[in-house]
Amino acid sequence: SKENGKNSFSFYNAELDKVMMRKLQIENDLKTAISNEQLSLVYQPKVDLQSKKVVGMEALLRWNHPQLGWISPLEFIPIAEETRQIIPIGEWVLNEACRQNKQWQEQGYPPLCVSVNVSVLQFQHGEFLETVQKALQTSQLDAQFLELEITESMMQDIKESRDILDSLMKEGVKTSIDDFGTGYSSLSILPNLPIDTIKIDKSFMDELEKTGQYSIVKTIIDLSQNLNLKVVAEGIETESQRQILRENGCLVGQGYLFYKPVAPNDFESILKEAALK
Ligand code: C2E
Ligand code: CA
Ligand code: CA
Ligand code: CA
Repeated sequence: SKENGKNSFSFYNAELDKVMMRKLQIENDLKTAISNEQLSLVYQPKVDLQSKKVVGMEALLRWNHPQLGWISPLEFIPIAEETRQIIPIGEWVLNEACRQNKQWQEQGYPPLCVSVNVSVLQFQHGEFLETVQKALQTSQLDAQFLELEITESMMQDIKESRDILDSLMKEGVKTSIDDFGTGYSSLSILPNLPIDTIKIDKSFMDELEKTGQYSIVKTIIDLSQNLNLKVVAEGIETESQRQILRENGCLVGQGYLFYKPVAPNDFESILKEAALK
């Protein structure tokens, strides 16, 4: 009936309002998230798939909002990209990851490389290289202990990307292609790019459950070996995934099977425990 139609219209309107209001609030409150000290980093260990020893870590951003609670980066990073607030936020992440990693080294923990996610906007921003240099200078972290995770979509302007990657390499910073295989196909440009590592996206871990049917993962591992690149798998949740990856030549990975991303204190406990083994 006409009455029902009107009701459902206002229902959807109310739902839409809620979604819009949340987005607007996130957009607005992000502006003060850094100065209000609401952002933090958690760290997910990367492990040797044979020995299970910690060989590195990925820094992942978290936002504790005073009213909305913990907001996932999957929700707020796209908004931060739309408003370009990802530039100062990304700079904060770089500085904080470098500072924390240097602090761990000074406290006597074994030196590890920290991987930092970089948004495409950040990467293409004119001052990206300077931001990286400044983070290293301020923290006094040696460049070899910083890795930048970039995505295939950043390779669209291949000439400019190559220049930035070349400069990063000269600086001594490591680079990896994140979420490999999920986006813009960069198979043909890969051979000429100065990168260190390919990361196999967690969406490909599913196929490792079916014995003998892991063609995508196998292709990515073979490709990386042919190009002399390292390969890291993310999202490893089961023992069989670990075994198949290892048997096929992927030596490093991360995932809930080993560790979830953890706060700095808990990461320290993981390193202390590992030292006792
Ligand atoms: P990503 O870079 O692909 O990171 C992997 C995501 O998978 C993380 O989600 C991690 O917590 C999660 N994960 C790790 N192991 C497992 C597993 O075994 N199973 C499953 N199901 N998930 C696992 P998170 O922390 O929610 O981050 C989501 C995405 O947000 C990241 O995906 C990355 O694209 C983005 N992100 C996070 N931190 C930053 C940042 O500082 N800057 C930028 N630009 N993006 C970030
Ligand atoms: Ca990543
Ligand atoms: Ca990513
Ligand atoms: Ca991923």
